[in-house]
Amino acid sequence: MKQTIAIAQEWCIDRLGWLRDRIYKRFNRDTTNGAKRVLVHEILSIQVLSAALFGGLAIASLYWGGQWVLQDNYGRWALQWTEELNELGAPLYLSDDGEALIRLESFVERYPEIDRVSYYSQDGTTLFAVHNHDGGEAVPDLTEDQLYDAIEVIGGKKPYVMSSDLLNPRQFEIVAPVWTESLVDDGLFDFNAIDLDGETRTELLGFVGINLDFVIFHDRLLANIKGAILILLVLLIAFAAYGRRALQRALASISDLQEPIKELAKGNLGVKFNPAEHREISDIVEALETTASALSERDAKLLEMANHDSLTGLFNRRRFTEELKKEIISVMRKGHTSALLFVDLDQFKYINDACGHPAGDRLIRKVADELSRSVRRDDVVARFGGDEFAVLVRRTDIHGATSSAETILSNMRRMAHIEEDQVFHVHCSIGMAMITGNNLHYDELINQADIACREAKSAGRNRLSIYEVSNGDKRKDDADVGWMNRLRRAVDNDGFELRFQPINRIHTGETTHHEVLLRLRSEDDSIVLPDAFLPSAMRFGLMSEIDFWMIENASKAYSVYSVPGRSLHFSINLSANAFENDDLVEHIEACFEKYHVNPKDIIFEITESLAVRHPIHVEQQIGALRDMGCSLALDDFGTGYSSFSYLQKLQFDYIKIDGTFVEDLLNNPVDQKMIRLIAEIGAEAGMEVIAEYVQDAESMALLGELGVDLAQGFFVGRPTEKPEHKSTPISLDSRRGRSTFKI
Ligand code: GH3
Ligand code: MG
Repeated sequence: MKQTIAIAQEWCIDRLGWLRDRIYKRFNRDTTNGAKRVLVHEILSIQVLSAALFGGLAIASLYWGGQWVLQDNYGRWALQWTEELNELGAPLYLSDDGEALIRLESFVERYPEIDRVSYYSQDGTTLFAVHNHDGGEAVPDLTEDQLYDAIEVIGGKKPYVMSSDLLNPRQFEIVAPVWTESLVDDGLFDFNAIDLDGETRTELLGFVGINLDFVIFHDRLLANIKGAILILLVLLIAFAAYGRRALQRALASISDLQEPIKELAKGNLGVKFNPAEHREISDIVEALETTASALSERDAKLLEMANHDSLTGLFNRRRFTEELKKEIISVMRKGHTSALLFVDLDQFKYINDACGHPAGDRLIRKVADELSRSVRRDDVVARFGGDEFAVLVRRTDIHGATSSAETILSNMRRMAHIEEDQVFHVHCSIGMAMITGNNLHYDELINQADIACREAKSAGRNRLSIYEVSNGDKRKDDADVGWMNRLRRAVDNDGFELRFQPINRIHTGETTHHEVLLRLRSEDDSIVLPDAFLPSAMRFGLMSEIDFWMIENASKAYSVYSVPGRSLHFSINLSANAFENDDLVEHIEACFEKYHVNPKDIIFEITESLAVRHPIHVEQQIGALRDMGCSLALDDFGTGYSSFSYLQKLQFDYIKIDGTFVEDLLNNPVDQKMIRLIAEIGAEAGMEVIAEYVQDAESMALLGELGVDLAQGFFVGRPTEKPEHKSTPISLDSRRGRSTFKI
């Protein structure tokens, strides 16, 4: 039996050690090599370990508790036994009473747990012993301590001493005094009675020892404990197996989520999740499904926003460019042609200014609807921003595309928009570029259509302009696109510079004015003259922005170079486009105020052709500038319309004779007559006359003779970076080689 328990104990200890080692290894596993701890095993290990610990503690308490119950029980028996043994043993101290001995032996036999009963003399020497089993070994005398303890308990409530061995708790030893009470010494006894309490006569005869061995009960206890251990183990294994399965089942639904979550992370929002058995996991699945559907809603919104214009719902520039690229591929593969239309509303700002931005928005929406209705189902309409739209006319030749553009133009002409009881007719300008086998770059195509649209604007608006690809001369197209981008950059990033060319009064030779001239600084730092870029600027409708830039920067220069006591007059050119811009006067006022420019020191030059083409509109603007105090010069006079009636009507302060009359003045009597005539008219109308292109002293002297007041040209002074004052006094009779002049 003992051996079995020892083997079981050893096995348990061995298994627990193994379990501990496994858990230790799992907990300390290096996760960097990819092997991960398994949650099921971890939870199970903890559960099994704690169950084993509590089970072990319960079994130990059972064992020690059982021992304690036994001891307690036998403590109570001990009292009865010592009393009986007292009675049975006392006669044996006095004589060899055979009957008493037999009674004693039968007493011992009655209790199998009593191993032996021994009687001792008063000094603890063993007198005799009765064994319950055969072959009992020799009985040792009582030790002094036992003797002392046994004497101590005489007459007490618990008249015995019970001792046990901690290592061998199933064995007890009880030692009790054997005495007689109320015996009076009559001399019959052969021992000295001891007076124990002073009143009662108590005679100590010796001691009795009872050795108990609860081997039966102990074995029974151990057998029970073993049974309990077995049951515990079986239960533990059963619960562990069940727990493992339950945990695996529960965690399997978490593992099942792994793949769908990976798919979700990759952006597959249509991923399906398996329904879960457990509430917690089902909640997670629900949350994931909500996340997936929220993400797909958000994606749909983002996609909508990424592809559509929020105001009109049309495709935006990004999406249109994608469609254009697809069309280009189709043109490449199938060899057909298509067209790109760039549509910009004419004078759209007016409705914004008149009725406010929301009204402008309403009109833009209406235009978007009208455009969508005007094109075929297959065609693509997009809003590029502001009042700019683009149309992709698929699979069409130039005639088809032109007719599509004409349809748009005529539908727009018919369209009326009512705001605050006002009827607005908004027209548009359309630029068209053909998508053909040799014109296939989407960026260039958009630029070409844009350029064409600007040309349509420059040509008077409300019309179509077709970008002409120069028969495969890609350089020309590139140059067009290049110029447009370059000029735009220059306007945005101050890429222009100003130069100042002096204008001198002929009679005094003093500089009284400077014409402000524009230069473009190239990327290689060289300076580009206006002749090179102004035609492009005009074609692309950038003149107004360039003029505005010039007004601002000339005002700034005025504030830098004006010196008290010296007059500084600037003469600034304004293009037709600048006059078309309703903000012109406002812009000039703002610049003058910002840079403290005296309007009286500023002359605005406009060309004769502009004055003739837009008399009413220009008249209003000129009136406003004049009200400010500015002067006006009619530039290039004599080249074009030369309508003297306009001269009178517009009330110019200066007439600038076109340089072509001056270049060959000395040899050309017609030019001389012409100039004399202009000078006389000028004098008559109170206008001063300026001659440009003056290249030598003779010409200047002759101009003076002809009645011209002011001269400008290389002889007077070349354009410089800052206004310079040059003196050119000329003797009027010095002409034709007789002139004496100083520079
Ligand atoms: P042009 O004939 O030269 O095209 O003159 P325009 O008045 O149409 O001016 P332009 O095309 O240069 O400018 C368009 C204006 O549209 C500029 C801006 O004030 C206005 N705008 C831009 N975006 C919006 C918008 O979303 N809503 C409204 N109401 N106005 C806009
Ligand atoms: Mg516009």
